[in-house]
Order: sequence, then structure tokens, then C-alpha cells
Amino acid sequence: MGTLRLVGESVRKSRRLRKARSLRYPNDRGRNPSPEPRSPISNLNDRENVSQKTEPVRSVKGVRDLLPKEMQLWQRVEEATRAVFSTYNFQEIRTPVLEYTSLFARSVGPDTDIVSKEMFTFEDSDRESLTLRPEATASVIRAYIEHSLYNEGGIHKLFYMGPMFRRERPQKGRFRQFYQIGAEVLGSMEPGTDAEVLEILHVLITERLGIREVNLLLNSVGCSECRPRYVAALRQALEGVKQNLCVDCQRRAESNPLRVLDCKVEADQPLIGKLPRILDYLCEACRLHLDEVKKGLNQRKINYEITPRLVRGLDYYVRTTFEMTSGTLGAQNALAGGGRYDGLVELLGGPRTPGIGFAIGEDRLVLAHQSAATQEAGANLIYIAWLEDNSLAAASDLARELRQSNQRVELVYSPMKMKKSLATANRLNARFAVIIGPDEIETGRYQVKDMASGQQEPVDRTGIGVYLQSRTG
Ligand code: AMP
Repeated sequence: MGTLRLVGESVRKSRRLRKARSLRYPNDRGRNPSPEPRSPISNLNDRENVSQKTEPVRSVKGVRDLLPKEMQLWQRVEEATRAVFSTYNFQEIRTPVLEYTSLFARSVGPDTDIVSKEMFTFEDSDRESLTLRPEATASVIRAYIEHSLYNEGGIHKLFYMGPMFRRERPQKGRFRQFYQIGAEVLGSMEPGTDAEVLEILHVLITERLGIREVNLLLNSVGCSECRPRYVAALRQALEGVKQNLCVDCQRRAESNPLRVLDCKVEADQPLIGKLPRILDYLCEACRLHLDEVKKGLNQRKINYEITPRLVRGLDYYVRTTFEMTSGTLGAQNALAGGGRYDGLVELLGGPRTPGIGFAIGEDRLVLAHQSAATQEAGANLIYIAWLEDNSLAAASDLARELRQSNQRVELVYSPMKMKKSLATANRLNARFAVIIGPDEIETGRYQVKDMASGQQEPVDRTGIGVYLQSRTG
């Protein structure tokens, strides 16, 4: 009590002092001469506060919680990612989510969708413009320069994971806070590095995470020598047709003609298809570089598709650009994207350093992995359906025997009618159901049902393990 009274008295005393001081020096704000920062909640009036008390607080539009039941999958994806990066001798880097806005304006480019309309930017109380990072390459390069990592010499192979923020229209697979897993290699301009970076993507996505229907789209966007020639040709070709393109493309034709190639409007596609192709304008060095990258991919037996329209949404790319899509994802099918950015370190004030990297959308990676994992979980599953109490012992004997030879088996111990039992097998995506009832026990021949074709045949109890092994292995 005594202490509380003392605290109360000292608060009252300091209030009295402040009041007296402000009367004497109306413009004096104590030790802080800059304008008093405005509290961000100062415009919430009392009425709003009252209604907020009764309504449940919700998350911000386009951002979401990742709940415990989802986290297992995210952790599995992140563990696989760390394991793969470690085998290629990459090291992790973590940069802040908050950066000065100028970092993105200078690197990503002022005409890009990201910078012109998608960034969460606000003025801090000291009038600095800050932005929640929409991507991490710019931040990694900033850190590389700020901490003079280049003085360590050699090649830097870095990876990161974390949230990014873009104010896009939310839909399935597209969020305003989403997560990226990215890699950056700084200090090598060799096409072999490009091929290895693409190998990492391939190994992680298809081999480790089992994602299917994956397409690697590859292109070269040239360099500062050959690209201007291409852009001039594109500008000229657009002069004749731009009035027939969508409003956005009419604007892009003026401000950044390469962006026209990114257009997704259906009606524009025939005209865009007839525009000049960048591959016909590459200088000798860029053409050779692309050829070497292709050779590296062929040697690794990694399939790719040359896609001359692939220019990507960020301005800093030169030469190699790529995107990975998966047919399992639906409309938002881009799983990862990246490319070479040889001028970026210099552009942000560092020494001339070539670089290449990629960013994988982790939300989509988890989604695609989940569907692969569900299919896989059911792929070779054997479900044992038993009919009566006296067949349960035979069912559990068989389950144990099959598991001993590494087969994946599901046996539910609660009694069920056959119809419900088979429905459960279906729900679990089982490959086979083995049916055991009094007749099967008597004859020593169990019914084996192929859940995909619906066909069923009796199989000798003694040969059942070999029978299933040969069909699921
Ligand atoms: P970008 O940084 O634009 O090259 O994007 C790289 C990858 O990040 C894309 O291929 C997507 O998988 C993912 N991505 C980009 N924007 C979003 C978003 N708004 N929501 C979810 N994933 C995204």
C-alpha cells in the first residue's frame, strides 16, 4: 500500500511539474524538441472503442493464422529445405521485415506492379518512409553491402525463409502476408552456377517434396548491351498495336514495354504472340550463356521449356530468368521464380558483384506438397476389413505379418458393417482392402479388393503377403 501511495504521489507531482513548465514555455516539449509523435490509435474515438469491445477482433484481410495442425506440414517442408541447402553448402541469412522504402524502389523498380501498387508503405513518426518487405533479394543484397560481406572473398551462397507482404487481391494461393524460401548466390557469373541453382530447385521440389506436374520455364532477358535494342524493337512494334491492347498494356507500352509480355488478359494474347522475341536479339555473350545453362540442365536430365515471354515482374533481372509451375496448384500455379541479377549489388551501392537467386512461395509449396503427401499416404496403403469378432484375431495377425515386410497397413479395431469399412478404406485412399469374414477363415482364402478398379479376388492366406507386395512395391 505504502509503495502504491508513493508511486501515485510521484505521478501527481510530475504531472504538476509538467503543467507548470508548459505554462512557462508553451513551445517547449521537454527534452524532445521534435514534434510529438501522433499515436496511431488517437483517431479511434470512444464510440468505436465501445463497439470494438463487443465484436470479436479479426485478422487483417489477406493475412492468416497458421494453426498447429498445419504446422507439421510446414515444418516438414522447412526441414527438407534446410537439408537440401546444407548439402549444397548454403548458409542461412535473416533480414528484417521492415526496410526503407527506397531500397525496393531502387532495386525492384518503380514501374513494377510490386512497387507501384502492392507495397505496405507507411510514414514512421520521424517522417521516414518504411515498407514491409515485398521480397527479400533486395534486403539480402543490402545486408551483403552493409556488412561488407564481399570482403570475406569467395562466393556467398545464402538462403532465407520468412514472411513477405504484398497488397494483392487475396484468393486461393495468394495472400497479403505470404512466405518465401529463397536462395541467393553472390560472386559467380558462371552459367554452371545457374544450372546448379536450378538443380537445387528441382531436387527440393520434385525429389524431396514429391511435387508433381512440375514445369520449369526458362528464358534469357539479355543484358544492358542487347536488351535496349530489343526494347526499342518492342516499343516500335507496340506503336502499331497498342490501341488494341488492354488499358494496362497501353500504359506499359509507354512506361515499361517488357511488362506487356507479362499480360494475362486473354484478348491481348494473339497480338502479344506476334511481338518480337527477345531470344532473336541476344548478344553473343548472352546467347552463349543461355546455351551453357541449357547444356547444364540437359546433363542433369532436368526438363525445361524455353519461354521467350518470361520476363518476370522485377526489373533487376539480366540473362537467365526462370519460373517453376505446378499443375497441382490451380489458377495460382507459379511455385517459384528467379533469375540472374548481375547489376543489382552495384545499383544498391556495393562493388560490382554478379548474382543469381530464386524465391519459392512456401504457402504454395506446402499446398502442393500436401496433395502429393496425401496421394502418397494412400498410394500403397492396405486396409484390412474384418467382419465379425472371430475374424479380428486373423486380421491383426495379417496386419502384423504385412508390417513386418514393410507394407503400410491400416486396421481399425472398432466393429463396423462391411459397407462402412470399405467407405473408410476409400476415405484413406487405400490401394487394397483385404476382407476377412467367417467364410474366408473357413476356406483359408481372403478376398482382396483393388480399391481403384473395384475388382475383387480370393487369394490364398499363405500367399497374400507376396501377392500384395508384388502389386504395391
Ligand atoms: P516473386 O517474388 O514474385 O518472383 O514470387 C516468387 C514466388 O512467391 C511465386 O512463384 C509464388 O509462389 C510466391 N508468391 C508471390 N506472391 C505471392 C502471394 N501474394 N501469395 C502467395 N505466394 C506468393
